[in-house]
Amino acid sequence: MTWEQLNQTQHKVVQILTNSIKKNRLTHAYVFEGSRGTGKMEVAIQLGKSYFCKERSTAEPCNECPDCKRISSGNHPDLHVISPDGQSIKKQQVELLRTEFSYRGMESKQKFYIINHADKMTPSAANSLLKFLEEPEAPTIAVLLTEHLYQMLNTILSRSQILTFTPLSRKEMEQMLKEDGISYPIAKLLTEITSNLEDARQLCQEDWIVQVRNVVLQLTEEIYSRPQQMFFTLQDKWLSHFKGKEEFGLGIDLMLLWYRDLLYTQLGEKDGLIFVDQLERLDHQALYSSQEKITKQMSAIFDAKRHLSSNVNPQLLMERLMLRLQEG
Ligand SMILES: [Zn+2]
Repeated sequence: MTWEQLNQTQHKVVQILTNSIKKNRLTHAYVFEGSRGTGKMEVAIQLGKSYFCKERSTAEPCNECPDCKRISSGNHPDLHVISPDGQSIKKQQVELLRTEFSYRGMESKQKFYIINHADKMTPSAANSLLKFLEEPEAPTIAVLLTEHLYQMLNTILSRSQILTFTPLSRKEMEQMLKEDGISYPIAKLLTEITSNLEDARQLCQEDWIVQVRNVVLQLTEEIYSRPQQMFFTLQDKWLSHFKGKEEFGLGIDLMLLWYRDLLYTQLGEKDGLIFVDQLERLDHQALYSSQEKITKQMSAIFDAKRHLSSNVNPQLLMERLMLRLQEG
């Protein structure tokens, strides 16, 4: 990662931080707040690199010196990351950090620590941290990350500079996925089902999303033109790709997106389409369908999604759904 790359998604935050780095005016405590997947940890680590790197001439760290390399591999002696131990961040974890830093205080001057999910600090951990923020023994930068700003102690917030990380827009996320080498139709689908870049990247692992999209395309085609095969495909492909309720639910969501595309095609609203590389098939299916039929199909999918959360057998649920979709 470079500041330049991070700048594409968190422009405001990156501008503030890189300006402070260049002017040598970093604050001793930051709170990075924003939803999951907005890059808080990446920016915190990058800030740590710029803080320690002695080879840089701009805000950008060199990524070559021992400090940069040790931070990249996660074992820099003066950069620590604290994460919740179970449900909370405990007082001992903060105390341990203080001891560690004061012990090492002799050999190095600067310190940097990141507290992930800082809102999960117990009251005694937060109070211990407060003392640390007020009386550091060496030049120290603390970066506290949180998804729940209002669950943090006011006394901590008032001593920190708060920077807000905004969620990616669909366009920005599409662009980031494109840079990852993800094809346009897949990126389009991913930005429809999640607004979290990390989750989107997770779904791309081992081409999972590409494969399940193919299963959905095959199944919707069979429901339309070869219903005698649909149960075989369910057995052979659907059940092996969608495991567990969450994945199953995602599969049903993808089915819904197909029928929504079909409805949009029927209405001539092609701007909002998700299956952008399937226009011919959409046109063809829309030609032999009606708005009424598609609306019924979509409500059958909503029903299935609702029933998924109760204790119904998922395979049975899918079989019923496919019959209803086929009848229309
Ligand atoms: Zn460096």
